[in-house]
Amino acid sequence: MSLLSNANDSIELVKTALDAKVALATAEEKERLADAKLALADLKLNIAELKEQNEQLSARLRTKNEVVYDDEGRAWVGNQAHCGGCLGSKDKMIVLRYHHADYYTCPACKMNYGDINRPRKSSPVKPDIPITLR
Ligand SMILES: [Zn+2]
Repeated sequence: MSLLSNANDSIELVKTALDAKVALATAEEKERLADAKLALADLKLNIAELKEQNEQLSARLRTKNEVVYDDEGRAWVGNQAHCGGCLGSKDKMIVLRYHHADYYTCPACKMNYGDINRPRKSSPVKPDIPITLR
């Protein structure tokens, strides 16, 4: 974040220099100096927005680094199961709805995880017949 803080410091230095010039300026120069000060104020706002975006992205990255996928494709953060499909394709952390017996559904994409009638296995069962996608 120091790059953005440095930019803010630079803006303050320019503003101070502009204030010193205003006292000696002509009317036209005063107008241009006022425009320059407005532009600096806009820059400060842009920097504040960038800082906020940076903090949000950093928080998301920290969360993503904590994700552990299980063999069903669920994305776990601590004890909370999330939809691995939504996380992978849409970059969204959707909390899975738990039903019972290790059976979960995603409220967003309706993906099912686990099977009510099948006990949890350590690895997926390989099908005898090749699966074709339609
Ligand atoms: Zn989903």
